[in-house]
Amino acid sequence: MKHSPITVSGVEVTPLCDAVGPMGPAIRLPLAEMFPGSGPADDPWVLHFHCYLLRDGAGRLTLVDTGIGGEDSPAAGWAPVPGVLTDELAAVGVAPADIGTVVLTHLHSDHASGAVTGGRPVFENARHVLQRAEVDSASGAMSDLLTPLKDQLHVVEGQAEIAPGIHVQHTPGHTPGHQIARVGDLAITGDLVLHPVQLADPGIHYAYDDDQETAARTRTEVLAALRAERATIATAHFSEPFMRL
Ligand SMILES: [Zn+2]
Ligand SMILES: [Zn+2]
Repeated sequence: MKHSPITVSGVEVTPLCDAVGPMGPAIRLPLAEMFPGSGPADDPWVLHFHCYLLRDGAGRLTLVDTGIGGEDSPAAGWAPVPGVLTDELAAVGVAPADIGTVVLTHLHSDHASGAVTGGRPVFENARHVLQRAEVDSASGAMSDLLTPLKDQLHVVEGQAEIAPGIHVQHTPGHTPGHQIARVGDLAITGDLVLHPVQLADPGIHYAYDDDQETAARTRTEVLAALRAERATIATAHFSEPFMRL
C-alpha cells in the first residue's frame, strides 16, 4: 500500500509499507486477549508493517527498520511473507547500497529480518544501529541474524545522535533494548505502541511484550512526553503511518 511522505525539520520521511495482513494462526489471539482490557475493536487485527526512509537535506539516507524479509524469514511462521521493502525503496529511487544508516528499533523478526538475505547483509554500506541491551539479549534466529552484520554494527546505549539531526532513545519493555528514533517533532515508535487502543490507554498490556509492566510504564511516560510537545508519531503497525498526538 502506498503512503505519502512528510517533511520534518528538513528531513523527508517516507513510509515504506513492507506488508499488510493479520497475524498467522501460530500466534494470533483474539484482540481481547492480545490487548487485555481494551474493549471492543475490529477483529481480526490487520497489521501494516512499516519501515521509514529518512532523507536529509544533504541526501543522506537512513532506514528505520528492515521489515519481514523473504519467504525464508524467521517471521514466515506468523507474518505475511515476503516483505516488499526493497520494492518500496526502488519505487522511490533508492537502492539498498544507497542506505548509509539502518536503525533497528528491536530484534523482532518483523522488524529486523529484512537486514539479511542469503546470509549476507542487504544494506551493504550501512551502519546498523542497535541498543547494547538488545544485542546482549539477542537469542535464536535473531542472534544468528547479527553474525553477518557484525562488522556493520553500531551499538549505542541510551540516547545517541546517529546521523545529523536524527536521534535514538532507549525505550525498554517490549524488548530489553527497544529504541525509538527522533527527528524534529517526529517519533518513529517501532513497537512502543502496537495498536490505537494503547493511545487511549497506554497502560493496556500487549500479549507479546517481553516485560509487560516495564513496557506499560515506558509507553505511558514516552507518550506523555510526546503529547506535551504535540509530536507526531510514525508507527510500525497502524494502518495510517502518521498520527499527530
Ligand atoms: Zn502501510
Ligand atoms: Zn516487536
